[in-house]
Amino acid sequence: PRTSVAGETYVIGTDTTFAPFEYREDGELTGIDMDLIRDIAANQGFTVEIKSLGFDAALQALQSNQVDGVIAGMSITDERKLVFDFSDPYFDSGVQMAVAEDNTEITGYADLAGETVVAKRGSEGETFANSIKDEYGFTVKALADSATMYDDVKAGNSVAVFDDYPVLAYGINQNNGLKSVTEKEQGSSYGFAVNKGQNPELLAAFNTGLAELKSKGDYQSILDTYLEQSV
Ligand code: GLN
Repeated sequence: PRTSVAGETYVIGTDTTFAPFEYREDGELTGIDMDLIRDIAANQGFTVEIKSLGFDAALQALQSNQVDGVIAGMSITDERKLVFDFSDPYFDSGVQMAVAEDNTEITGYADLAGETVVAKRGSEGETFANSIKDEYGFTVKALADSATMYDDVKAGNSVAVFDDYPVLAYGINQNNGLKSVTEKEQGSSYGFAVNKGQNPELLAAFNTGLAELKSKGDYQSILDTYLEQSV
């Protein structure tokens, strides 16, 4: 096992379309998570190889040790703590519901009776939707990524999407054809994850690097770069 991160290369899994945390611009992977992990690596003297796998796929790749870590707007939850070790939290999030911009029928959970909603497989949004589906009488369809979920709602195949509010807000601000209709639900914070008991040196370096980026003001400028016009 590696004891120091210096000079090491780590393979990091991430989501595919989760702007402003990870997305492609002119073919390049960019976003808050990408800037954070790259800057922390540079600060701590290690190298990262990023794999854009999709959220659920990234978590599975981590569990089977195909990647060393995951940064994917991944919420720190008690359930996940049983299988992963998390860094210090780096962003507070929460789940929210959105519908197509021209939808005037769905204004709250009570309007979902008999309808189908969409959420990301393996996500907190999916867990939340499943936790209220019986009470409100709707069906939850799981899809792999946010872009596909939003298209599904716009195409009218599902009436609403449950996703993380900063991601919904970013897309809505870019006129993606959705609007949010409910308040955000209390959510968890995002953390960088390694497999339980694996790569403790990487986790420690992430925490040290994050603290340094915060004290130097770089963390705040990364957030400002991506969130200025959205959340
Ligand atoms: N924060 C949510 C979760 O961890 C969604 C993450 C994502 O879709 N990339 O479940």
